[in-house]
Amino acid sequence: LVVLSGVNKHFGDLHVLKDINLTVREGEVVVVIGPSGSGKSTLCRTINRLETFESGSITIHGTELPKEGKALAKLRADVGMVFQSFNLFHHKTILDNVTMGPIKVRGLKPAAAKERAMELLKRVGVDHQAHKYPAQLSGGQQQRVAIARSLAMDPTVMLFDEPTSALDPEMINEVLDVMTTLAHSGMTMIVVTHEMGFARKAADRVVFMSDGAIVEENTPEEFFTNPQSTRAKDFLGKIL
Ligand code: ATP
Ligand code: MG
Repeated sequence: LVVLSGVNKHFGDLHVLKDINLTVREGEVVVVIGPSGSGKSTLCRTINRLETFESGSITIHGTELPKEGKALAKLRADVGMVFQSFNLFHHKTILDNVTMGPIKVRGLKPAAAKERAMELLKRVGVDHQAHKYPAQLSGGQQQRVAIARSLAMDPTVMLFDEPTSALDPEMINEVLDVMTTLAHSGMTMIVVTHEMGFARKAADRVVFMSDGAIVEENTPEEFFTNPQSTRAKDFLGKIL
């Protein structure tokens, strides 16, 4: 579904993505882990074309990533992204946050968008907050709204970049639970996270990045119990 081949990217002198090859099949859940600065966020942003790259190719459903214009807007709608900071529109209600994209980009009628939004808000457990503003919700609730907002666009793949790292500990699980349910529902997901419990429960594959390169790829069981590279061993030694 998502295929990166030979992707290279620099920030000035810094070679931030080094010859990245990664294939994510339909329904697959890939967890990306690695030290700070290894290029995980850049990888997500490159897949979503929030960043450009110099060589290699990225295809989604066999189609090369468009560089601009309408095709790019369509791609962005197909690739849902959830960030560490929830990025909700603060002057809009929860419900409006979720219905805006589908109305503007997908051309849904307001009534249909609202019905679908309420269904999604219910799925993530914040339907009772629909008429509040983001600031009136907890961090965990806001992040669940951000997930519902992405899902409202009917994405083909969802990217998550450390979605729980800005949350207080007691709110982490409520977000991970939503993500685990989503993973089990067959959504194709690329998830940057250091939450090993989630990786074990939900991931089909773990990709370990270090210094801009994919160093190791394995099932979660194998990766956590039997890392192959020194860099992965060092990293796991620090976080486990
Ligand atoms: P973290 O775990 O801290 O989120 P990361 O693996 O997501 O780290 P990236 O944010 O992708 O890492 O950054 C990879 C490298 O690229 C870092 O050295 C960072 O300083 C650099 N970098 C990121 N964004 C830019 C930018 N816009 N301009 C220049 N350098 C950048
Ligand atoms: Mg990052």
